[in-house]
Amino acid sequence: MSASDTLTRLDAPREGLSVDAIEQRRAQFGANRLPPPRSQPAWQRLLLQFHNVLIYVLLAAGVIIALLGHWLDSGVIFGVVIINAVIGFIQEGRAEQALDAIRDMLSPHAIVTRAGERHEIPAEDLVPGDIVHLASGDRVPADLRLIDIKSLRVMEAALTGESLAVDKQIDPVAEEAALGDRTSMAWSGTLVTYGQGTGVVTAIGTETELGRISTLLATVEKLTTPLLKLMARFGQWLAAVILLLSALLFGFGVWVRDYPASDMFLAAVGLAVAAIPEGLPAIMTITLAIGVTRMAHRHAIIRRLPAVETLGAVSVICSDKTGTLTRNEMTVQTVIDADASFDVSGSGYAPEGGFSRAGEQVDPESQPLLRELAHAALLCNDADLRETDGGWQLTGDPTEGALLTLALKAGLDLRQTREALPRTDVIPFESEHRFMATLNHDHAGHGYLYLKGAPERVLALCATQRGADGDSAFDPDHWHARMEAAATQGMRLLALAVRRSDSATTLNFDDIVNGGFTLLAVLGLADPPREEAIRAVATCRAAGIRVKMITGDHAATALAIGKQLGLDESVTAMTGAEIETFDDARLREVVNEVDVFARASPEHKLRLVEALQSLGEVTAMTGDGVNDAPALRRADIGVAMGKKGTEAAKEAAEMVLADDNFASIAHAVEEGRTVYGNLKKAIVFILPTNAAQAGMVLIAILLGITLPITPVQILWVNMVTAVTLALALAFEHPEPEAMRQPPRNPREPLLTRFMLWRIVFVTVFLVGGSLGLFLWELERGMPLDTARTAAINALVMGEIFYLFNCRRLTAPVVGWSGLVGNRAVLIAIGILVVLQGLFTFLPLMQALFATAPLDAATWGRILAFGIVVYGVVEIEKTLIRRNHTPSRKSP
Ligand code: ADP
Ligand code: MG
Repeated sequence: MSASDTLTRLDAPREGLSVDAIEQRRAQFGANRLPPPRSQPAWQRLLLQFHNVLIYVLLAAGVIIALLGHWLDSGVIFGVVIINAVIGFIQEGRAEQALDAIRDMLSPHAIVTRAGERHEIPAEDLVPGDIVHLASGDRVPADLRLIDIKSLRVMEAALTGESLAVDKQIDPVAEEAALGDRTSMAWSGTLVTYGQGTGVVTAIGTETELGRISTLLATVEKLTTPLLKLMARFGQWLAAVILLLSALLFGFGVWVRDYPASDMFLAAVGLAVAAIPEGLPAIMTITLAIGVTRMAHRHAIIRRLPAVETLGAVSVICSDKTGTLTRNEMTVQTVIDADASFDVSGSGYAPEGGFSRAGEQVDPESQPLLRELAHAALLCNDADLRETDGGWQLTGDPTEGALLTLALKAGLDLRQTREALPRTDVIPFESEHRFMATLNHDHAGHGYLYLKGAPERVLALCATQRGADGDSAFDPDHWHARMEAAATQGMRLLALAVRRSDSATTLNFDDIVNGGFTLLAVLGLADPPREEAIRAVATCRAAGIRVKMITGDHAATALAIGKQLGLDESVTAMTGAEIETFDDARLREVVNEVDVFARASPEHKLRLVEALQSLGEVTAMTGDGVNDAPALRRADIGVAMGKKGTEAAKEAAEMVLADDNFASIAHAVEEGRTVYGNLKKAIVFILPTNAAQAGMVLIAILLGITLPITPVQILWVNMVTAVTLALALAFEHPEPEAMRQPPRNPREPLLTRFMLWRIVFVTVFLVGGSLGLFLWELERGMPLDTARTAAINALVMGEIFYLFNCRRLTAPVVGWSGLVGNRAVLIAIGILVVLQGLFTFLPLMQALFATAPLDAATWGRILAFGIVVYGVVEIEKTLIRRNHTPSRKSP
């Protein structure tokens, strides 16, 4: 069916549906949404909690023990296993929920024309008949019949499997054409790789071709990262070793020490349970999920979880200038013309302000040249400005928004001008060629070819220049001097030119590069740096992270902005053209001498990333366009812009900035470093507590003395500390020092020598204290149950105090802030104290766990032990800090 027939059939006017029609269709057809991928049912996820070698061992042990007639012990084992599973289930569910919420923040948008105006709306709100505009980098939001295209190319691999982009056109195709051959359609879920297009929505939601084959593009990501996988493997390996040891111990106890086999079996099971850090994987997952949530609160949305780990090791951030480091609220401040220049007053998009020349106010109506360049600025433009209650609202590119404001200040009316000189054809702006051109015809048949773009491009195509008294030969020197002056103030330059073209009805590249244009003016646009970006640059530099700025702008503009940002002392900018003259080896040598890259295009970004990576730098790179995707994919952390970024860039990126702000990258790095630190803290806390529990059993059996802690008691301690204490460290906030240290060496292992030492050292201390107290209580004639209860409480108390130590790996944890700085720690301890109270004093628990009440003096000794543990670790930290300056990043 032809495009116009399609519009008629859908009752869809070219200028968009009315508000009423949208309401009515919305009610009739519903939302443009696919059902979410079916997630695992809850019971399955609960059962999966039991799918763990250790749990199998425990369950088997529980059964064997029951068969041996120890009903109580086996009951406790089953109880503990179930409670553990339920807690794991709940926590995993919450972590998943947090990630789901973050995924929802990335829902796509669509540009539509409705009731004659362009709007950006959530893609979900599209209805059949909506007029949708596509640009390179967009995901097609619904099935569209194309009605207008310009070099539109679409990648349809998601739907047809075809890996080459398809050229679109608007003529009807044969009725029986296959999906991939229906070139007048743009299918929902496919990716625009080039050009522009407009289409009318023919199908939404599950009625689209994609919806019908119902393969969802949004893949559900597993809650894991390489580091977690490594830890999980380490955990399995550790578990195997421990099980083997337990078996050996069982043999040793039965045959050498003559313990009864059933007791020894229980003890061996207890040892295995005590030694295996079964809570560790869950805690690492939760730490990660908390980190991701925190980053989202600070406007950095993580798309791929491994990025959380990598962020902490980032050593170079390559950032776009425009909109990321700068505010992207552009204002034309200078108009350079053939005679002199105008200053333009006012700021923001509101058309308030006027023109002056050499300090003298001028009336735009009296300046034909101003009127003419305002026409060019308005017509060679895809943006739209609207006055709303909250001020002037821009849809589209800020650079173009500033040009509309300029046209309004010059007294033009947007709608009238567009109607008087409708657009016949366009070559859209791409950062590769850095210009945009439109062909407009008035109703008398006069054609104008407007060209706007980077001065280097546009000036080279100009033969004449327009002044107050007509056209004259183009005089490059005049312009260059003035442009240089504007650029050194940090202004972005944009040239406007025109050529008469009455006969042409289409526009192609060759028409433009043939030249013969008349230069109207060069505009200087102010785009000041963001305050918070200046601060974030300083933060990054203090944190040993280099910041490099990449822009398509003029070198002088880039340098001026770089200076304002405090980028580097370097006095030169490297241009894209220079990068092209370097081979890879040469680029590697010079890449770190410069922090400002100007007139650079996306393929230069890719080469920069590769050069930096080959120097061993962990590189973050920002981008927004479809052509940035390769560089983003290549970078260790690809960062896409949430607002102005295309879908293509977002999909290639590890991280999306909700506010397009450079400062958010710095925040994400800080949170990334914190996550990594918290993982280390959790390990340094959990491993000694497990090792201490196991150590007590092991030593007792080797020495042939009464067990200081029974297997069920071990299960108890293991469970209560894993769900309380260890979890608290996941909530630890960034340390003040986090951004004052150099980045972590990516090759450094998670478990450093220092951490191993700390684990051994604390283990020895905890075992010594608890075992000592146990023997001492027996010595002074206390019953076995009482001595065991004292030993267990001493162990728990030691862990509680050691938890405070672990809030910082080597920095001191002292004073009020050390005590109450992390609320999760206090809550966890509160819960644990209650649990231990019940464990010790509740008759039911006494019956289940063979515990006995303790007197005040014993509690005093237990508390004293805890304080000693805390003190000794703090002293150890002081010694370590004195002998050991933090390791610099090795090359
Ligand atoms: P950046 O990397 O800083 O965003 P761009 O690649 O967007 O830079 O722009 C590079 C140059 O292209 C600008 O300095 C300007 O001269 C020109 N330019 C930018 N936007 C447009 C546009 N919409 N139309 C025409 N020319 C543009
Ligand atoms: Mg740009």
